[in-house]
Amino acid sequence: MNESTDVSRQATTLRDALCGSLRLEDIDQTVTVCGWVGRRREHGEHLAFVDLRDHSGIIQCVIDGSVDVRSEYVLRVTGTIRHRPDGTVNDKLATGEVEIGDCTVEVLSAAEPPPFSLEDRAEIDEQVRLRHRFLDLRRPRMQRNLRIRAGVNRALRAAMDAQGFVEVETPILWAPTPEGSREFAVPSRLHHGSFYVLPQSPQLAKQLLMVGGLDRYFQIARCMRDEDLRADRQFEFTQLDIEASFVTQDDILGFISGAVLDAAEIVTGDRPTEIPVMTWHEAMDRYGSDKPDLRVPEQLIDLSEVFADSEVRAFSAPVVKALRLSGHSGMSRSMLDGLTEQAKLHGAKGLAWFRVLDGEDGLGLDSPLDRFLSDDERSKVLAITGAVAGDLLLMVADEWRLASEVLGTLRSTLLSPPVSEGAPHYLWVVDFPMFDGVDAAGNPSAAHHPFTMPHPDDLDLLETDPHAVRSQAYDLVLNGWELGSGSVRIHRSDIQSRVFRALGISDEDAEERFGFLLGAFRYGAPPHAGFGMGIDRLVAIFAGEDNIREVIAFPKTQSGTDLMTGAPAAIPAQNLLELGLRPQPREA
Ligand code: ASP
Repeated sequence: MNESTDVSRQATTLRDALCGSLRLEDIDQTVTVCGWVGRRREHGEHLAFVDLRDHSGIIQCVIDGSVDVRSEYVLRVTGTIRHRPDGTVNDKLATGEVEIGDCTVEVLSAAEPPPFSLEDRAEIDEQVRLRHRFLDLRRPRMQRNLRIRAGVNRALRAAMDAQGFVEVETPILWAPTPEGSREFAVPSRLHHGSFYVLPQSPQLAKQLLMVGGLDRYFQIARCMRDEDLRADRQFEFTQLDIEASFVTQDDILGFISGAVLDAAEIVTGDRPTEIPVMTWHEAMDRYGSDKPDLRVPEQLIDLSEVFADSEVRAFSAPVVKALRLSGHSGMSRSMLDGLTEQAKLHGAKGLAWFRVLDGEDGLGLDSPLDRFLSDDERSKVLAITGAVAGDLLLMVADEWRLASEVLGTLRSTLLSPPVSEGAPHYLWVVDFPMFDGVDAAGNPSAAHHPFTMPHPDDLDLLETDPHAVRSQAYDLVLNGWELGSGSVRIHRSDIQSRVFRALGISDEDAEERFGFLLGAFRYGAPPHAGFGMGIDRLVAIFAGEDNIREVIAFPKTQSGTDLMTGAPAAIPAQNLLELGLRPQPREA
């Protein structure tokens, strides 16, 4: 990314140049720069070389050795640009051919010694970095990441604006929304015992905006979900949130593809090719995942026919699927046992493995199960998988979805590189199932949210075979991370009632939870659809980071705390009283 070092834009009353902007062509000019002291080296008895750093880079300043400047002091330096003396040119630095000489130094702020090195290359414990995030942010890596992030936001805004979308802010103090995650609640001082809920997304608000005739809405929206944190998840994350009226799924895919490809082009300099589209069924069947990592070419192989009439008990199942791992035949028995445990954890009855070896009469299989295979089965397995000596075959026999998912998990654990590595591979996954599993009461659960429109061809199955109903829901996937999801919404009350019924949500329940939306729909709801895309994840991948914390200015740790501010923290008893709350010790 081209960082903005346009000095004319960044000159202020206190400085007229940026440290990182100075070059040979500036020689003989008098400049004033401001910044923090990086390294200081004494030069002879009377002079010191000081590296002065601002967000644009570093410039060497030659100052009077008697001036007391130490690490991270904030200085204002005025002097003349000149060649560095022969032998001291530093080609690793953009400003490495020049220095500022004859410096007048004004100390703007003194500084205590920093608790860790602010050099970009230094490996610093993340807890220490987060406790002093304000110092960590001075490091080039964080400067770069946050500027990439700003560039992405700028590009997304411009793309949405160009497509006729209107930016509307929606409330943070709000009511429950239907994404299905645990929510943060905010007590009300004026209404004791009542709570606002922090929005998991602006879902209901944006649908109401469509009823309100906004036609095309977008927002760079903060979403809050009280879920366990991971590399790709924070309590609060930022989403490009959109909704549009009088559109179909294809329109939304087009709007979002345009915005993402624009952002990619602006930030990385390369415009990715059009984003391919795959159905959920195909993604599960070929990759065992609804967010397949297309950087990994290996696909699942269906061996069900080979074992359709097999005598081998381990393979008597509706589906037998295999994953072929090139060059993995040397995997140790204990690692294979570990993979088997992992497969079982994900619900498989077991994991069959076969090492493919050169035998006396051609290829052979090495596995405790091999002696149970017929010659015909063995040769078909080798032929269909295309295995060669040195490969390892992993197989799971089960129902289609489970066998696929278990191998899909192993595929990503064994083969996926870190998420930010290699060329980005985008994918649209469409035609998700409408329902996923069942809830505690035995009713089908909504796979997306209850306002998702069923696939028009499957409407008749709502009452007879709900789990076979596909929805008009779609996800955008990048390198195995789900970047975002969205759907065409139900705008007709007859279909909405049927979906609520399938979900086991009574009319009264629906009225109580979403009455304001359903009520609004009675006044003329346009057909509408939308999408929410995680900006933290997109930026992390653009920035070459594998954890979204690295692209968030002030993130929480894995355990949900902010090490710098100490949040969450107790609040004074008086404030609790005012909110109508009484602290209760956590039950053991
Ligand atoms: N509200 C959804 C989400 O945050 C996105 C959408 O359906 O527009 O996942």
